[in-house]
Amino acid sequence: MDVENCIFCRIVSGAVKAAVVYEDDCTVAFDDINPRAPVHVVIIPKRHIDMVSDLKEKDAGMFGGLAIAANRIARIKGIADSGYRLITNCGKDAGQEVLHIHMHLLGGRKFAWPPG
Ligand code: AMP
Ligand code: ZN
Repeated sequence: MDVENCIFCRIVSGAVKAAVVYEDDCTVAFDDINPRAPVHVVIIPKRHIDMVSDLKEKDAGMFGGLAIAANRIARIKGIADSGYRLITNCGKDAGQEVLHIHMHLLGGRKFAWPPG
């Protein structure tokens, strides 16, 4: 994926506006433009990588950082105690639409299991 054509890289650079709810050195998180729950935040690394199947050993800290950010954002959004779901879609069958690795933080309602 060409970084110039990546919508999430364009959010990182500021070329595309997003409702940013959290940022640190390696991570940015913003409200999903098409929310599937009362709280739906997309958490991305600032460094472009397409998907989970591209992760290497050296990326462990970066990917773990997404979960740490989710923990913080859940507190900011007031869903830390009620619970929430973290989802990372990888590839076609999972329905990954944006080829820049990301974690969905969903909360504010009860979710079904197994997922559809
Ligand atoms: P996925 O299907 O896992 O690739 O999820 C991509 C998510 O990114 C979807 O939930 C989209 O609604 C969301 N999304 C795509 N473009 C934007 C954007 N410009 N701002 C916020 N969320 C976006
Ligand atoms: Zn990207």
